[in-house]
Amino acid sequence: MEQYNTLAFVLKKEALGEADRFYYFYTQKYGQIKTLARGSSKIKAKLAGHLEIPSLASIDFVNFNNPRLISALEQNSFSSIKKRVFSLEVAFQIANLLYEFTLPYQTDLEIWQLTYDCLFLLEQNVTSFFEVSNFVALYFNAQLLKLIGLAPFLDGCTACGNRLETNYFNFEKKGLVCKKHSHKTDLPISSKQRDLLILLFNFPLNNFKKPQLIKEILKEEKFLKNFLTEFTLVIKSSII
Ligand SMILES: [Zn+2]
Repeated sequence: MEQYNTLAFVLKKEALGEADRFYYFYTQKYGQIKTLARGSSKIKAKLAGHLEIPSLASIDFVNFNNPRLISALEQNSFSSIKKRVFSLEVAFQIANLLYEFTLPYQTDLEIWQLTYDCLFLLEQNVTSFFEVSNFVALYFNAQLLKLIGLAPFLDGCTACGNRLETNYFNFEKKGLVCKKHSHKTDLPISSKQRDLLILLFNFPLNNFKKPQLIKEILKEEKFLKNFLTEFTLVIKSSII
């Protein structure tokens, strides 16, 4: 039987009966996959502890279209993330977004790299700079939507193209609008908030290495979080 191997992040576990279990992964080679781990085998004991969110593991499976997990070897446990409730919550948010917004067997190395970079940034900095977790939650959410082609339109008014005074956001149109084209239900956005959204959606992670910049962004955390939560819901309801 042909065996497949790939690096994988654990996204979700699901019990199946008394002994069996499904593991959902985001993998480097195959995108999202759902694998069955049979409880009757010796594997289960070996897997336990290696497959806790957000562990990075090297996994082997058989039956490509109906994968059965045969082994998993942990490559990184992200122990600093797991030690803290707030960073672990961010890791769960990342896993959940990947579960909801990626498709089985659709390889995407950019999404893989984004996940890898965000989790490593969090792991390496959370001990000395806890605010990094709040930033990673916002950044990952924005960048994932961008990589699946569903970023908001932030380059001027969606109705007229005007780039000045685009201080409203229309969730139905998924973009900025100017005062003239705004409605009562639109979300008012300050110029600074708009610039921060542009930063989160368009800039590589390398640009955010300075704690000072992260702290500056987090001054608007409440707005950015609310915006991304609502925008993500709109996107979700439009693709289901
Ligand atoms: Zn306009």
